[in-house]
Amino acid sequence: MRVRAAVLEGVGRPLQVQELDLAAPGPGEARVRLHASGVCHSDYNAVDGTAETRCPAVLGHEGAGVVEAVGEGAGIAAGARVMLAWLPACGRCDECARGLPHLCASAWRDMGHGGLLDGTPRLSRDGAPVYHYSFLSTFAERTVVPAACCIPIPDGVPFDVAALAGCAVATGTGAVWRTAGVRPGDRVAVLGCGGVGMSALLGAVAAGAHPVVAVDVSADKLAAAEELGATHAVPWEGGAERTAERVVEVTGGGVDYAIEATGRPEAALAAFLSTRPRGAAVLIGIPRADATITLPALPIPRLERRIIGSIYGSSRPQRDFPALLALYRRGRLPLDRLISRRLPLEAVEEAFGIMRAGQGLRVVLDMEDAR
Ligand SMILES: [Zn+2]
Ligand SMILES: [Zn+2]
Repeated sequence: MRVRAAVLEGVGRPLQVQELDLAAPGPGEARVRLHASGVCHSDYNAVDGTAETRCPAVLGHEGAGVVEAVGEGAGIAAGARVMLAWLPACGRCDECARGLPHLCASAWRDMGHGGLLDGTPRLSRDGAPVYHYSFLSTFAERTVVPAACCIPIPDGVPFDVAALAGCAVATGTGAVWRTAGVRPGDRVAVLGCGGVGMSALLGAVAAGAHPVVAVDVSADKLAAAEELGATHAVPWEGGAERTAERVVEVTGGGVDYAIEATGRPEAALAAFLSTRPRGAAVLIGIPRADATITLPALPIPRLERRIIGSIYGSSRPQRDFPALLALYRRGRLPLDRLISRRLPLEAVEEAFGIMRAGQGLRVVLDMEDAR
C-alpha cells in the first residue's frame, strides 16, 4: 500500500512529505489510519541530533486513529478507535517482572533498531527500508504498529485529545501522580510549560497540589499556565539560582516536587534548588546524551533533597490511558486546552517552527477529522 508520510533523511535535514510503501501488518501487528498526531519535542530531538535516530525515518510518536487491518493474533479488531502508546512492554524481562513495564529492557533495546518488534520495518521506498520512530511513525496517513501499542479510545473523546494523551499527557501527569506520588496539599513547581510541562501542571492541579508554580521564559506560556490553574507564575530570569530563589520565595520555603520538563541542565539545577527539605526534583525533560548536571552536594544528606527521574510518566498504558481520558470527559483534565494549533501533515516543518519558537502549547497534525 502507498502512504504519504513525512520522512527525515538525516540529522539537520527538513522533513519531506513523500509517498512510501507500507507492508501489511504481520502477526501481532495492526495497521492504523491516523486522524491526529501531536508534534513533540522528542521528534525534534531526532532532527537536531539530540537523540540518535536511524534514518531515513518517519517520525511521530503521539497519534490516534482507526484500526484498518490486523495480523494474526493482534487481539484488536478492525474498526477500533485507538490511541497509540510508544512502549510495547514485553511482559517477560526483569523490569517488566518487577512491575516496571515503562523500563522494559527489550522494548527500549528494540526501539533503537528502527523496526517493529521483529526488528524489521514495514516502511520502504523503492525497495529500500525506511525506519520507524518509537515503533509508531505517526507523521503519516497510515502506519503499522505492534498491536500492543493500540489502546481503545473511550466514546466521546476526539482523536486529537487521545493522541496527546499517548505521550505528552501520560508523561506529564504520570510524573506527578505515578513517579512522584503528589498528594493533596503538596507544593509543586513545573519548570518548562510546553505540552509535557503543562500536562504535569494539569496533573498537579487535579491532584490537589497547592501552591502550583509555573516557571517559563515565555510570558504567554505563564499566562496560559495561570489560566490552567497555576497559583503563581515565575519568569525564568537571571539564571538558575535567581529563578529558584523566586520559587522558594513565593512558596514560603520551596516545593515538595519540582517537575523539570525542558531537558536543560540549568533547569534541572533550578528545580533542585527550588525544593524544600525532603523535596525532590523530578526530571522528565530529555537532555543531550553527553549532558551532565552539577549540584550542591551538602543539601542532599543534610536536607534529604532528592533527584528523581521519570520516563513516560512511569505509565502502564492499558491501565492509565483510559483513566486519563475518563478524567478529561468529566472535566477534571481540560486536555483540549493544550492544543493551540491544528495543521495538515504537509505543514510539519511549520509545526516544528512554532514549537521551537515556544509559541502556544501543542501543535497537532490533523490527518483526517481529528475532532
Ligand atoms: Zn513525546
Ligand atoms: Zn519487558
